[in-house]
Formats: sequence, C-alpha cells, structure tokens
Amino acid sequence: MAQIKTNAVVIGRTDYRDNDRILTLFSPERGRLEVLARRAKSPKSPLLSASELFCSGEYVIYESREHATMVSCQVTDAFYPLREDYGRLSHGTLMLEMCRVVVQPDQPEPRFFLHFLRSLAHLAYGAENPRSVTAVFMAGLLSLNGYRPGVRKCAVCGTNLIPDDGKKYGFSVGRGGILCDECRSAEGTVLCGKDVADMQWIMKEGLAALDNGLEVSPAVFYLLLEMVKNRLECTFQSEKMLTL
Ligand SMILES: [Zn+2]
Repeated sequence: MAQIKTNAVVIGRTDYRDNDRILTLFSPERGRLEVLARRAKSPKSPLLSASELFCSGEYVIYESREHATMVSCQVTDAFYPLREDYGRLSHGTLMLEMCRVVVQPDQPEPRFFLHFLRSLAHLAYGAENPRSVTAVFMAGLLSLNGYRPGVRKCAVCGTNLIPDDGKKYGFSVGRGGILCDECRSAEGTVLCGKDVADMQWIMKEGLAALDNGLEVSPAVFYLLLEMVKNRLECTFQSEKMLTL
C-alpha cells in the first residue's frame, strides 16, 4: 500500500470498462508494470496524453494489494512524430512488442530502458532510415540479454572476418553469428562485405553508429529479427505491418 514514482514508457494499453485503460509500463527500476488509468479515455482527463503508446514520463502510481493505479504523470516526451509517419510508427510498434516480451515484472532493466528510450528518440526525431534504427535496437536487445551476435569471427571455423566486397558471407541464427564464405550454406542468408562491416560497426558503436550515416540492408535487418524471434521464442504481429 504505497505511492511510488518512476520513470516509464507506455509499451501497451487496453481499453477497460467505459472510460478506463489498463496500461503496460516499462520502468527501469520495476520492469513491466500493469497500471489502471481511471477515466483516461475521457477527452478532459489529465491522464489522456500520459496513457498514449510511446509516452514517456515520470509516473506516480498508487499500489494496493489488488492492483496499481496511475495517480498522475509528468510527461517528458510523447514521441509525437512517430504517429505522423507510417514507416516510423510500424518500427516503433515492433519495438513496443519486443519490450512487452523481454521486460518482466519486478526485474529492473536500467540499461535496456535507456537503449529503448534512445532508440525511440532516433526513430522519432532522427533523419536515419527506420530500418537501421530498429536493427541497432535489436542488436542491443540481444546483447543485453546475453545473446550478443558474433561478428568478428566465423561462427563455425573461427576465421577472422575481414569485410571484403569480393566475398559472400552467411549468417547462422542457431550459432548466433556470421559465417565465412567457406562455411556458409548455399541456401541460407547471403551477406556482402558491407553487411559484415555494418554488423561489426553496430556491435562496436551501438546507437552511435547511426550518427555516422549507417544504413543497413534488409538482409541485416531480417537476420537480427530472426535471431530475436529465435532467442525469445516468439513471433511478432507487427512484423506484418513493417515497411522497409
Ligand atoms: Zn568459416
């Protein structure tokens, strides 16, 4: 029975009764939280903007034995431009869906929270291709959850991978890394030298790679998506909405 204050982002919401909403919040200290937002659908409600998807702010929550209720919220960023661009929105929606799977109740995730918040900022305000932003987001998600993709050595024979546009490379989701020309399977993903260089850059620089004009290919995007689905053992409905 206590009132808590926490930074959080709305990563999910469902309508409840006539005017209420149940929000799924991602809090760095508390992980995933389900919170009742009373009368949040009413146009005059002070909770209206704080109960929109992607909204980030400082939430004040009252916790009773039965449920948690939002008391108020100081909105810090609504990431409004995401709602005005279908391509960016589709990528943001995929990020929310991934967060709903990864983030668990009562499990603090401060580093992943920061990575998610910065990724949303790039997606909403940056000039980068949304595909590149989501690729870097997924690479960080994998790394922070113990599934860092292998990009420096072939995942089968261990040869150092020196990106060369005269060669072809592969990727093994099962082994979690890039394969050299000799070890790749003929029917699997084919990557070029630039793809390998981009993957190495992403794993080294994280989101900072975006500031230097990173533009990943659909092949890199999809191999990261396949690896996330494989490691989290799930599929994402919003994948169908994606525009690359
Ligand atoms: Zn090899």
